Amino acid sequence: MAEVKALLEGYKRFYKRYYSSGDPLYKELSSNGQSPKTLIIACSDSRVDPSIITEAKPGDIFVVRNVANLVPPYAPDLSSLHGVSAALEFAVRIIEVKHIVVLGHSQCAGIAALLEPGKTDGTDFIGMWVDIAAPVREKTLAEAQEGERIEDTRCRCEKESVLHSLANLTEFPWIREKVESGALKLHGWYFSMENGRLFEFDPVHGAFVEIS
Ligand SMILES: [Zn+2]
Repeated sequence: MAEVKALLEGYKRFYKRYYSSGDPLYKELSSNGQSPKTLIIACSDSRVDPSIITEAKPGDIFVVRNVANLVPPYAPDLSSLHGVSAALEFAVRIIEVKHIVVLGHSQCAGIAALLEPGKTDGTDFIGMWVDIAAPVREKTLAEAQEGERIEDTRCRCEKESVLHSLANLTEFPWIREKVESGALKLHGWYFSMENGRLFEFDPVHGAFVEIS
């Protein structure tokens, strides 16, 4: 229970900071509603919390998290549950965010599972979910250099999957329209947790460039 107790202690500090201290932030967010300008799609990994990495305040970012920060294809006709697509639709069509960030990261277990399908044998959902990025696996393995370290292969796959998710985003018609009109911008980020560095995909140079 110590783990949960620590979280409840954290809640008490949160309450003190945002409510009993007289800080008006939540009062305003409660009265006016949320209007975050940015949607961040991140991994469920406990080490890659977008609010912590960006020091965003409550109300600043709309967040979707899932295994391996993947965006599924636009497929409204398929009879399946679409939690991620529903969140995308809410952020883009209702809240009208101006930016969508796909945030990939190093040491991603979901991407490791994508690269080695045998690892997900016996799972009910994980294998099927990460297989959304099956083309990324094929591309990464096809481009592997002789003797490449597995860490480097995974890193390439993690970055490539961010680009694949960005491409999938543009298959959603209401996202594509806004991107084409300039009302919405798409960004690909990659967080290297070993050294805390953040990289952004530069479409001009076709590479991830470190944020300095
Ligand atoms: Zn991950």
